[in-house]
Amino acid sequence: MQIAPNLYRLGNDLVASYLIDTPEGITLIDAGMPGHWKDLHRELKSLGRAPADIRGLILTHGDSDHIGFAERLRREHGVPVFVHSADAERARTGEKPDTPMGPKKLRPLLGFFAYGIRKKALRPIFVSEVIEVADGDVLDLPGSPRVIGMPGHSPGSIAVHVPVADAVFIGDAFTTRHVLTGREGAQPAPFTDDAAEAMASLDRIANVDASWVLPGHGAPFFGTPAEAAAAVRAA
Ligand SMILES: [Zn+2]
Repeated sequence: MQIAPNLYRLGNDLVASYLIDTPEGITLIDAGMPGHWKDLHRELKSLGRAPADIRGLILTHGDSDHIGFAERLRREHGVPVFVHSADAERARTGEKPDTPMGPKKLRPLLGFFAYGIRKKALRPIFVSEVIEVADGDVLDLPGSPRVIGMPGHSPGSIAVHVPVADAVFIGDAFTTRHVLTGREGAQPAPFTDDAAEAMASLDRIANVDASWVLPGHGAPFFGTPAEAAAAVRAA
């Protein structure tokens, strides 16, 4: 689905990842669940592109609903996978602390898990080789993505600013649709390791100049990162 010039979304409001298409090739942000492999190929085909056009995949963090097809893309097409060093182990092994689930409602909860089953989320495929990145890095990939450390949801959670897409990708630093309650609007994300740290990290994107704020779960937020951060604080 096209969001803006150069900018496409794979998946839906339940689980989303993103594709940035430039003349230099494609940069992907997140890899959804393993079953999104088909969605990726459908999108590439509609753009007249091939997996060989993908220069790199950046993971906003190492959780299983974001690393989806990363290993397959790396193994079958040699696409490098980038992740913050503090989440590299999580992407490689799935090791993470237990977090309380918090509020939930039955229908959205079941909807999320049913979707996960359909997209093969119960059998995560970990990423055997990653390239570790750090806060402030500008990656040599299409769109020159810049890494912004946003610890909280996980220690290595990042936002990624891509000026050519006029967007900042925030992973689960916050959400615009709570997967467990179905509530819509910018708000803190569930399954967050350190909620206070995630709130403090909102300041990290406040000065980023972009028109789109794109979460791993929920509708695209059309507005500045400062507006999105203010909405999360007010939620
Ligand atoms: Zn997630």
